[in-house]
Order: sequence, then structure tokens, then C-alpha cells
Amino acid sequence: MPENVIKLVQMLFGETHAKVVKVMLEDSNRELRDEEIARRLGMRINDVRRVLYQLHNNQIVSYRKVMDPNTRWYTYFWKLNVNNIYALIRRRKRRVLEILKQRLEYERANTFFKCTSGKGCPVVTFDVAMEHYFRCPVCGAPLEQFDNSKIIRFLEKEIAKLEEELSENV
Ligand SMILES: [Zn+2]
Repeated sequence: MPENVIKLVQMLFGETHAKVVKVMLEDSNRELRDEEIARRLGMRINDVRRVLYQLHNNQIVSYRKVMDPNTRWYTYFWKLNVNNIYALIRRRKRRVLEILKQRLEYERANTFFKCTSGKGCPVVTFDVAMEHYFRCPVCGAPLEQFDNSKIIRFLEKEIAKLEEELSENV
């Protein structure tokens, strides 16, 4: 599971964020100061802070700040919220699922036509084809019906996959 979390962070934010999260995962039973994370990764403290703030904006880390009574400087103690990484991924998957479902509906509801010129002109809907007397709106070559059953099957497969992933806990 930790490997999975690091991979997810890398996918969502990038390599540097994944490194920071890895260090925090290794020590997930306690809070870490940004100086400590920077030292362990050999990173500049400002870079570590930038990463932490970005993760914080996405609620993946949270912090507690404590003021040193002598210097009146704040020390930040950072903690990883692993569950929020999964929640973030789930939200993204749900958004993708919505888009795929809309696209599937569109593909099912329409008949498409493609240009016979082989020039790679865009596929058009029945309405557009009719408006242009079944000639390509771009190059004028005759149009022929385009079989979108492969696209439909692909979308159905992707939707099923996402729905299954969303039904699991991860
Ligand atoms: Zn054409």
C-alpha cells in the first residue's frame, strides 16, 4: 500500500512531491519538521516548503505550528493524510468517468460520417453530413458512414474498469 501511495503522488504531482511523501510515510507515526525532511532528502528547505504547501493545498498534508517563545519564530510540524490521497484519486476518477459516460452517450446517439479522401479530415455527425449533401465540409470528397462501434466498445470497457476501481476501497 505505501508503494501505491507514492506512485499516486508521483502521478498527481511529480517526482519531488513523491520523494517528500516517501520520507513522511517512512515516519508516518510522528510529525516531521520541514528542516528534517530537507536534510534527509538533501533538498533545499525552500523547495521542501514549496512542495509541502502544494500538498497542503490538496489536503494531503496538514501542519501544526508552534512558536518558539524566545525567537518568536514558528516551527511547522507536518503530517501526512494518506486517506486524502485516495479521496483525491477517487474524485479525479469520478470526473473522468462522467466525461467518458457523456462521450459514450454522444457516440451511441449519433451516426457519424467520414471523408473518403484519406486526408484525415474530421469525422462529422449525420446533421453536418446532410447539410453538406454528404460531401466532406473540409475537402469536398464524398462522405461514407463511419462505424464507431470500436469507440463505443472502448468507452464501455474504460467505464467498466473505472466503475470497478471506484467500487473498491482504493
Ligand atoms: Zn475531406
